[in-house]
Amino acid sequence: MAFESLSDKLQNVFKKLRGKGRLSEADVKAALKEVKMALLEADVSFKVVKQFIKSVEARAIGQDVLNSLTPGQMVIKIVNEEMVSLMGSETTELKLNVGSAMTVIMMVGLQGAGKTTTSAKIAGKMKEKGKRPLLVACDVYRPAAVKQLQVNGEKQGVPVFSMGDRHNPVNIARAAIEHAEKNNNNIVILDTAGRLHIDEDMMAELQEIKGSVQVDQTVLVVDAMTGQDAVNAASMFQDKVGIDGVIITKLDGDTRGGAALSIRAVTGKPILYVGMGEKLSDLEQFYPDRMASRILG
Ligand code: GDP
Repeated sequence: MAFESLSDKLQNVFKKLRGKGRLSEADVKAALKEVKMALLEADVSFKVVKQFIKSVEARAIGQDVLNSLTPGQMVIKIVNEEMVSLMGSETTELKLNVGSAMTVIMMVGLQGAGKTTTSAKIAGKMKEKGKRPLLVACDVYRPAAVKQLQVNGEKQGVPVFSMGDRHNPVNIARAAIEHAEKNNNNIVILDTAGRLHIDEDMMAELQEIKGSVQVDQTVLVVDAMTGQDAVNAASMFQDKVGIDGVIITKLDGDTRGGAALSIRAVTGKPILYVGMGEKLSDLEQFYPDRMASRILG
């Protein structure tokens, strides 16, 4: 289960706080030090942890908290609220153009993050909403990727546009949008090529697609299991290509949680959905408050 170790550690800290009755400033500081350690061990980025603890401390050390009847409970409440705020406070939906206007979504991310799977998952969600999505195979470097998208598209009952691997992704994207216009598809999901690591060619290719066709939403897919690497990658994609939102995959696995807690603060972009499994229905809307409750137990 995701966050297990972080949750356990935080619950231990909270148990001590609750058990104490009255709290001194030193008690709160000691507890927050333990919270800090737990977050760092969960691979939350150092800068984010520092800022988080500072915000909690500023609110938790005041007399109104320490002199209250249940100071421990109040400190826990503050940690909870600050954690929700760290993850963006509100649920953010993927922004679609209104009415019959077409929305072009470009999916980006490192290889293996779950881009192709997530593209098909999103297409399914859009179809459920009554939209008419088109999946587009822009990954021309991995022939298996085209096939994988076709298989997943078929499972979702969503058409897949591909031109094989002998065209460049910009031309494929252009042709796909034309195809969508003719066929009355109002959502175009471009599944772009990832690489194993951040690389100049990948970024250049994504910039070129973005510069050549009207991309309405650029969605970054990151793998929660890769922790700080996911966060670093997110920050690079944001700098080089610009992203509108993030999807964190593999939160069903045994992840320590760092990516989910850091990514919003580091990129300034909302988490839109989380991937909770390999099945195409395993994509959930992201609720910062529910995620915080899950982490804090
Ligand atoms: P891409 O290279 O970014 O297109 O990644 P893929 O879509 O091919 O996904 C890589 C692997 O991760 C595949 O085996 C997927 O089934 C798996 N995967 C994707 N999303 C999730 C998820 O949310 N949970 C789990 N457990 N596996 C996932």
